[in-house]
Parts: sequence; structure tokens; C-alpha cells
Amino acid sequence: MNVLSSAAAPRRIMIVGAGQSGLQLALGLQQQGVQVTLVSNRSADDIRTGKVMSSQCMFGSSLQIERTLGIDFWAKGCPPVEGIGLSIPHLERQGEKIVDWAHRLDRIAQSVDQRVKIPGWMKLFAERGGEILFQEAGVAELEHWTQEQDLVIVAAGKGEIAQLFERDPERSPFDKPQRALALTYVHGMVPRPAYSAVNFNLIAGVGEYFVFPALSITGPCDIMVFEGLPGGPMDCWAEVRTPAEHLAKSKWILDTFVPWEAERCRDLRLTDDNGILAGRFAPTVRRPVGRLPSGRIVLGMGDVVCLNDPITGQGSNNAAKCALAYQRAILARGTAPFDAAFMQAAFDDYWQYAQHVVNWTNAMLQPPPPHVLELLGAAGAMPAVARRIVNGFDDPRDYADFFMDPDKAAAYLKSELQAEAA
Ligand SMILES: Cc1cc2nc3c(=O)[nH]c(=O)nc-3n(C[C@H](O)[C@H](O)[C@H](O)COP(=O)(O)OP(=O)(O)OC[C@H]3O[C@@H](n4cnc5c(N)ncnc54)[C@H](O)[C@@H]3O)c2cc1C
Repeated sequence: MNVLSSAAAPRRIMIVGAGQSGLQLALGLQQQGVQVTLVSNRSADDIRTGKVMSSQCMFGSSLQIERTLGIDFWAKGCPPVEGIGLSIPHLERQGEKIVDWAHRLDRIAQSVDQRVKIPGWMKLFAERGGEILFQEAGVAELEHWTQEQDLVIVAAGKGEIAQLFERDPERSPFDKPQRALALTYVHGMVPRPAYSAVNFNLIAGVGEYFVFPALSITGPCDIMVFEGLPGGPMDCWAEVRTPAEHLAKSKWILDTFVPWEAERCRDLRLTDDNGILAGRFAPTVRRPVGRLPSGRIVLGMGDVVCLNDPITGQGSNNAAKCALAYQRAILARGTAPFDAAFMQAAFDDYWQYAQHVVNWTNAMLQPPPPHVLELLGAAGAMPAVARRIVNGFDDPRDYADFFMDPDKAAAYLKSELQAEAA
């Protein structure tokens, strides 16, 4: 039976939040003939002319989801991210590195500024007949919509309304932000030699700096991402008042901690005055079924239920995969009700994947244990190890088999050494 044979009694679905997950699911369901209403607290213009929100680097399997849906409109214009490199500066010898390698990804990654992508997707959704309500959704609105709709999904990212969903303490080891975050979108950076990549710099006691090419409202650019340890020298944005000061502070960090990156940045300018961001949040996993005061229920999606620190660049990838998992669950539901059991099962299916992202991302927020340092060091001499680490960004489930556990890491390195010797 066609799962859409329910067309005789069309399902009505409301999605609150027009971000990566909300819009992708809205467009995916719309294509399948499901009646979707979208709610956004910002217009396309607000988003296009507002501040950057993310660095949104998406890896091969997430890009494939957009390609399959036919909504990858910027694939040709967006510069590719062809690999990932890692550098760890020497603690005492300024300007020297103890780890320094890079490897190509099997499939390229890409980052399209959400200020470009989201307005484009909103336009498409409206052109295809979708309704978008521009308003801030609160509990009262959810109460109202849950009476009218078959299913209400909350995909409001870090919005206040996410508090409706109970924090899952067992899956949320941190109750405070683990990094002071900042973004700087720039033109004028000297490209890496050989191939483009995420250059990831891990600076002990300070934080992380990574950078990669992207497409912004002003065309191809580079995005600088700063992850400062709270209270450390890279937690330095509080006094920054203007876009020019933000750019100057970004360059100061490079000059001070990663001079090889500063070499690429002698001639930088901001993409635009809104190409900057500074903030912090605690990584949090929430329960997927949100209960309103009336007892009616709503389903959480994307960052609402699984908010990770951006250190591993996974949030948009997760949002895409969560939206796809929910799309499949909704279409497979036929005419059966979208009850709490359905919501929990849809999330549990996604969690089979997302748990690995959360575990790995949370591990990366801690000082690396000896087995991880050994793997990262070995990758410099062993391309097979580098390749496996690099491609894990596209499917972090693989890390459970070699990166997350000292015994598995040792067994893996041994097997690679034997393979090299053979
Ligand atoms: C500094 C930084 C760097 C990042 N870098 C990367 C990266 O390189 N790679 C990656 O994969 N991820 C990255 N992320 C994470 C990624 O951007 C998010 O995980 C992703 O956008 C989440 O998608 P979403 O659909 O859940 O929510 P969002 O994209 O946040 O969308 C939520 C939408 O809901 C709207 N909204 C909120 N409240 C309401 C309300 N009450 N009513 C109506 N609308 C509402 C918001 O305005 C917003 O448009 C980064 C994040 C940060 C902060």
C-alpha cells in the first residue's frame, strides 16, 4: 500500500521553526503531498539581512539528502571543502607544531550561509503553495495548533520554546557552556596549498580554531570559528563592540596562538558587518515529547532535542538527518495517529545515529586522552588512519569502533601497522 494513500484524508502538519531541520522536513513532506504549515519568527528578509547564525559545514551524506530532495541549489556556486587537516601547536616552542597533517574527504563537504539557504528554501516552499505564518510561537499558540493539526513539530533551534522539552540528564553531561564561541566570515584569506579543507587547530589550554571555505551573501568566503575555553585567553569577546574590533580580535588570536594561520590572513576583510557572531550555550539533549499544560503533545526536532557544541561541526548535519528520519516515520505512519509512542519511536530511530555524534562531540570538549593523542599523532605518518578520522566527520558512528575506546584504538593501530608491514 502506498503510505500516502491517506491522501483522501490529508494529514495536517505544523512545523514551528524554519531552519535546517524545519524547512528541509517541510519541503520533503510537501513534495510527497502532505499539507504542511510552517511557522517562523523571522521573515526571509530578516534572515538574509541579519547576523550569521552558524558555520553550517555539511558533509557528504547530509549534502546527499539535499541533493535527493532536489533542494541543493547552491552546490555549484559553493566552494568545496575537500579535506580536513589537524594541527596541534607545541606548548613551549612558539610557532612549532607537534601534530600537523591533512587528508582528503572521500566526498566533499560544503557550507552555504544560512542567510542564503533559508530564504531560498522559504521562497520555494511558498511557491509550491506552502503556507508560512510569520509569528513567534509560544505555548498558547501550540495549544491552539495541537487542536487543529494532526502533528505539531517544534524545530525552533535554541529558541526559548525548546524549554518545553525536558532535559535528559543522562544524555546531557554538561550543565554549562563548554566553549566561548565566535564566528568571523571573511574575504581575502590565502587558500591552503593543494586542496581546500577544514583546518582544525587544537590549542591546549586555550581552545580550538578552525576555518574553511563557504558561500555567503557576498559570494565565496572563508569562515573562521573560535572555540575558547571559558575563562581562557580565547574567551575574549565580551569587550568587543564593533565589527572592526571583532575582526581585529580574530586576527589577534591567530597571531598569538596559530601564527601559520595568521600567515593566510594578512589581507582580511569581513564579508559584511553581520558576518560576525559571539555567544555560548550548554550542549543539551532533551526528551522528544513536549507536554503542554493541557496535556496535548508536540514533537521536538533538530537542535531542540539534540543541541551539540559546534566543535565537531555536526549540528546542521544532525538537523538534516533528524528531519529525514522524521519524514520517513511520518510517511510510514499512514493514517494512524501521531501519538506519544509514535514521537518517541521517531526520535529513538534518529538517536541510534545521533548518540554517536553526541558522545564523540562531548569527548572532543575534554582534554584528549592518551589513546586519542596516539591516534591523532599516528595519522601524521599513516594516511589510512588520517583517512578514517577525517571521514568520521561524515558518519561519526564509525568513531565508536576505533576512536572512543582505548582498547579498540590500540587494536586498530596494531592492525594498520600490520597491514603496512605486510
Ligand atoms: C557558532 C556555531 C557554529 C556552527 N557550525 C556548524 C557547522 O560547521 N556544521 C554544522 O553542521 N552545524 C554547525 N552549527 C550548528 C547548526 O547551525 C545548527 O545545529 C542547526 O542550524 C540546527 O538546525 P535547526 O533546524 O534545529 O535549528 P535552527 O537552524 O536554529 O532553526 C530554528 C529556527 O526557528 C526559529 N524560531 C525560534 N524560536 C521560534 C519560535 N518561538 N517561533 C517561531 N520560530 C522560532 C529561529 O528563528 C530559526 O529560524 C553551528 C552552530 C553555531 C552556534
